[in-house]
Amino acid sequence: MGDRIHPAPPQSDVQLVQGNHLLLDRDCPSYIYTESLDGRVMFFRPWHGRMLAGTTETPFDGDPDSIRPTEQEIRRMLGTCNHFFPHSPCTEADILESYCGLRVLPKAGGSAFAASRKMQIITASDPAPYMAVYGGKLTTYRRESEKVLHILARLLPGHRISDTRHIRLQAGASSSRSRTC
Ligand SMILES: Cc1cc2nc3c(=O)[nH]c(=O)nc-3n(C[C@H](O)[C@H](O)[C@H](O)COP(=O)(O)OP(=O)(O)OC[C@H]3O[C@@H](n4cnc5c(N)ncnc54)[C@H](O)[C@@H]3O)c2cc1C
Repeated sequence: MGDRIHPAPPQSDVQLVQGNHLLLDRDCPSYIYTESLDGRVMFFRPWHGRMLAGTTETPFDGDPDSIRPTEQEIRRMLGTCNHFFPHSPCTEADILESYCGLRVLPKAGGSAFAASRKMQIITASDPAPYMAVYGGKLTTYRRESEKVLHILARLLPGHRISDTRHIRLQAGASSSRSRTC
């Protein structure tokens, strides 16, 4: 988006990291949060009566509209699944659905797994006030929104920030302390 603005605003150097999910034709009575065979976070959870497995960390540099689960991701995920559930091994024929998303992470040396999951905010004041938000997490949306509003309040003086810290989240909303994928 920033490259459509003139003069060009400062930009953060980000990497896109694909995370894949498989809906498997298996029962899953509980949530299992563990590590895949290569040490990454992996979960198995009930989803519409079947088992949802996630996720992967595959660096991506193509067209975001074209993301698809890779063969290697599927092989690794099924391998991890069969490691933990050897009594009922899954093959590709047991995949009911698959989908993936792209994490927006700061570009850093080393593995994507080690890259920070924190939201990044870039601001500029010249020639006009500018703010860009990269990445972030669902579970911390409230704290992250608050940071954004404090910056906006400096850019747009005269506005009061509503304090929502003591307003209850809706039932079922996630805790901001959960571990991340
Ligand atoms: C693989 C993966 C794993 C993750 N794991 C976790 C986790 O464990 N914990 C956690 O807290 N967070 C996690 N996240 C991050 C979390 O998914 C995001 O923080 C969250 O989805 C952001 O919500 P959002 O509504 O702001 O944006 P999004 O969910 O991205 O929704 C934006 C919507 O706007 C639409 N849109 C975009 N551009 C346009 C346009 N020009 N016109 C119309 N519509 C448009 C998009 O299609 C999309 O539906 C993960 C993300 C990925 C990719």
